[in-house]
Amino acid sequence: MSRPGSPGTQPGPERTLPVSTMGTAPADASTAPAVPASPEQALAELHAGNRRFVTGAPRHPNQDAGHRTAVADGQHPFAVIVGCSDSRLAAEIIFDRGLGDLFVVRTAGHTIGPEVLGSVEYAVTVLGTPLVVVLGHDSCGAVQAARTADATGAPPVGHLCAVVDAVVPSLRRAAAEGVEDIDGIVDIHIAHTVEAMLDRSAVLATEVAAGRCGVVGMSYRLTAGEVRTVAAVPARTVDAPEPAASAA
Ligand SMILES: [Zn+2]
Repeated sequence: MSRPGSPGTQPGPERTLPVSTMGTAPADASTAPAVPASPEQALAELHAGNRRFVTGAPRHPNQDAGHRTAVADGQHPFAVIVGCSDSRLAAEIIFDRGLGDLFVVRTAGHTIGPEVLGSVEYAVTVLGTPLVVVLGHDSCGAVQAARTADATGAPPVGHLCAVVDAVVPSLRRAAAEGVEDIDGIVDIHIAHTVEAMLDRSAVLATEVAAGRCGVVGMSYRLTAGEVRTVAAVPARTVDAPEPAASAA
């Protein structure tokens, strides 16, 4: 598979992805929104937005017509969200963000096939996004389905087997660690997804090693609405600083 190009935010002539159709650089820098430039700043913005959501004080930033126009010619999302497809896990809502802020890739059980990895690599190398978040949640149906299939030996229908197969290694790790409760298994699956993403994507691993990107695993609680960090590479991204007061 061809790589989308060398690291950086400027598209080069050798890039294989249709950059112009997805948008990269804003035509007018004066209209481009200020965005977090480091993994720590990006993580702090996500936590700030999640706190607003949890406390019932969302600001719904970057959702107005003026911002829609401002970002039409280019996007600089500050975080990639590789999340579970669960309908209760809408990234822009739970992080209280708007248009152009988050580059979202979702599959059941946040499984990472080549299209997912290619999408992450696109955001990180072409768009210059400094943070990748693996977002799972408690009571995950995909993890539960994998657990049931693994326990009973009954094959899943159709392409669901691909989801189950992708989750089974996390089940094995949980069993080896003596973790039996579903939410503990989910946390292990989130951490495993972070590790697997870095193992399989040399492009992403290079960006992380260079300090241009961080990868964080978060677990979301469906009732409380809050996220909790369960894995981070590099580790310093766990303790993100508070964001500036007027970030959004
Ligand atoms: Zn789920």
